[in-house]
Amino acid sequence: MPTHLIYKAWQNTKDENGVIMQNTKDAKGNEIVRQIKFEDPMKQKDMEPHEGHCFLCGEPMTHGIKLKKIFSNVFTDWNIAKCRGETHVCPACCFSILTTKGRYGLRTFSNVANEERLWLPNRMEMREFLMHPPDPPFVINLAVSQKKHIAFKGEVNYSRDIFTVMYEEMPVLIDRKEFTRLLELVEHFLYGFTKTEIITGDYNQKRILDFGIEAWEAFEERVKPYRGNPLLDVVMFVAQKVESEEELQCFMVSELKMKMQELQPYSSMPSIVAGTGKEGQVGSTCGGKSNASPKFPRSEQLALDLF
Ligand SMILES: [Zn+2]
Repeated sequence: MPTHLIYKAWQNTKDENGVIMQNTKDAKGNEIVRQIKFEDPMKQKDMEPHEGHCFLCGEPMTHGIKLKKIFSNVFTDWNIAKCRGETHVCPACCFSILTTKGRYGLRTFSNVANEERLWLPNRMEMREFLMHPPDPPFVINLAVSQKKHIAFKGEVNYSRDIFTVMYEEMPVLIDRKEFTRLLELVEHFLYGFTKTEIITGDYNQKRILDFGIEAWEAFEERVKPYRGNPLLDVVMFVAQKVESEEELQCFMVSELKMKMQELQPYSSMPSIVAGTGKEGQVGSTCGGKSNASPKFPRSEQLALDLF
């Protein structure tokens, strides 16, 4: 059960004060490390000895919290309970539900867990987890609204190549290679367009002209089959815009197999590589995965700024 895996991961991750670390940003965008202290279900006053099965996950248990004590009256997930005749919720499921006085709990964080560790990744870190999941078994939950209880609805994964993540309450099947390809495509497309444009297919005409019609078509034809597919939502959740026109052009030549004469420069926008005199060498200077290892000092700097 996902809740049991997450609960075990939390027990293995927290320090002696019950704290786990989260890399995040403050209101001004500065990187900070937050100390997150979740409620310990075994220390709740309503936790009591109870032999039976968990109302939510159906696993046998020796301790639990009564339904009316653990659920607020706004709880609406009754239909997913595994044992509806039962009266208590097990410690692992309680862990995924409990909220602190500071109003945070597992549901307010995207999370990744395996048997060794619980992570609370920011979007950059989640991007890495989706491309390189941890050792199985693992679970991955993407908290979009940060309000829904999704941990007990997810699935435990046993493969790093094909796995299911919860995108809010929607289970999304991820083929890692396909995901990585689509992510790379979208991150380059984001150079010229907004996330909303790419998701809806409703593009600003001026931006199409600035981007170049042929280039736009080449991207659009590859994105279009994914429109309406939740895989695209997961990609957007973690996508980081490529900021360098040079990287964009490399990608179009090497991955989209476009020819140089089809690439229109951004004549109406200030180019960040203007003046380097490298425009003509794009084909020869870029080699394959532009995202993995920036080739140019300028893009390295941008990558650092972005993080
Ligand atoms: Zn349970």
